[in-house]
Amino acid sequence: MASNLPQKGLPANGCLPASLHCYCSLFQYNPPMLFFTRRRRRRLRNEPLPQGWLQVLEQEVPLYRRLHGEDRDELHGHVQVLLAEKAFEGGGGFAVTERMRLIIAAQACVLLLHREPTYYPRVSSIIVYEEEYLAPLTEVDECGVVTEGIDRRSGEFSPEGALVLSWEDVVAEGLDVHSAYNVVLHEFAHELDAEDGITAGTGGFAEILRRNYLQLKRSVRLGRPTALDEYGAENPAEFFAVATECFFQEPLSLRAGHTELYRALSEYYRQDPAQWGDSCTSPPGS
Ligand SMILES: [Zn+2]
Repeated sequence: MASNLPQKGLPANGCLPASLHCYCSLFQYNPPMLFFTRRRRRRLRNEPLPQGWLQVLEQEVPLYRRLHGEDRDELHGHVQVLLAEKAFEGGGGFAVTERMRLIIAAQACVLLLHREPTYYPRVSSIIVYEEEYLAPLTEVDECGVVTEGIDRRSGEFSPEGALVLSWEDVVAEGLDVHSAYNVVLHEFAHELDAEDGITAGTGGFAEILRRNYLQLKRSVRLGRPTALDEYGAENPAEFFAVATECFFQEPLSLRAGHTELYRALSEYYRQDPAQWGDSCTSPPGS
């Protein structure tokens, strides 16, 4: 990184005068490309929402309706950056409209509130199919026997850069006020997991997730219902994605049944959705 620093005029001992420390740290820790990226993103965040977008958000994104005024303003900015940076494609000839892109981006950006947003750097394109799509599946059982097949999917995140969604499922889940499921939150949570190394980590958050994952596995085995969908018992990565869905979609249930997990997610996302209003009513300041 030091190679980015201007060399001319440095004192013989290599130290910068105090007045240049800000300049120094700017280029030492933020390469020029990142500096310009940040400037472009700041400009995008400050642009007013295009006409008609607010109406779509208020009418068609229950999560947005639950946000308070300052969070809504922050979300507007993030949505503009995400839509400017990600390529949306229709899978199987499906025509992705601006309204669809906005509804998907708004839900994805709820996960970025109150953080230093990196805008999902592992996602370069978002592919939207009209409905569940077929994908090749390879399974290896405990004996090492490989089974090839076809899987029906509502969404997936590939670390190679594509995030795939079924529009039918985006509508059925994310737009249903009382659904615990949200395929957009689920797939973007996988990206955050890959980006931050959450479930592969060893810190306190990873430990809490692992403990709750094992509890869910036990509950599923014993047939005990919980606030979390049993799909979270598949593996730790699916557990984090399922827990993220529940945290934002059904925060009161999660907090009541899994207090430690709720607190840990609240700390990670720097949000407390249990304090939000009901999506059936308008939040204060609206
Ligand atoms: Zn998943």
